[in-house]
Amino acid sequence: MTLIKDILSYNKQFVEEKRFEPYQTSKYPDKRFCILACMDTRLIELLPQALNLKNGDAKIIKTAGAVVSHPFGSIMRSILLAIYELNAEEVFVIGHYDCGMGCVNPNKMKYKFIERGIPESTLQTIEYSGINLEAWLKGFDSVKESVKNSVNIIKNHPLIPENILVHGLIIDPATGKLDVVAEDQHTSKGQGVKAI
Ligand SMILES: [Zn+2]
Repeated sequence: MTLIKDILSYNKQFVEEKRFEPYQTSKYPDKRFCILACMDTRLIELLPQALNLKNGDAKIIKTAGAVVSHPFGSIMRSILLAIYELNAEEVFVIGHYDCGMGCVNPNKMKYKFIERGIPESTLQTIEYSGINLEAWLKGFDSVKESVKNSVNIIKNHPLIPENILVHGLIIDPATGKLDVVAEDQHTSKGQGVKAI
């Protein structure tokens, strides 16, 4: 059985047996906050458990490394939606130790593209069209610096209201322990947040 067949068959039973009932809630976050976290598999259940989150408590955006890499990309748009349409008042950027984005080697990844059958000419065409593949694929050297950088992009974004608090944290993917790297206490725009 393929994974999709397996999942669809489980899903049918899940719905028929009304096992969704304990999870019913609204689209508005009860705790009025939004989390940007990494897509790491170790955080699927650990992150909500370690933060005492139930279904309905928070908007959670996940992306590799919990990085905001573009001020007008889809991550930033999701954060703005959480604030303006869904009443979030605080944003938590949560990176984690031992993150895969901390050891991405863009050159090795380019070799992997070629090994998997992507023609070298395709990579060249992409680069000729002005996309810097290496810069785009590159991860970060320090999760702490990366989280602080994402916090600053969000906090200083021209469309983020003054009263929104933006915090930076790092979670241990083994124990769930949170370390604070930037705690926002109503600092004004342009001053950044208190870095710890
Ligand atoms: Zn990660």
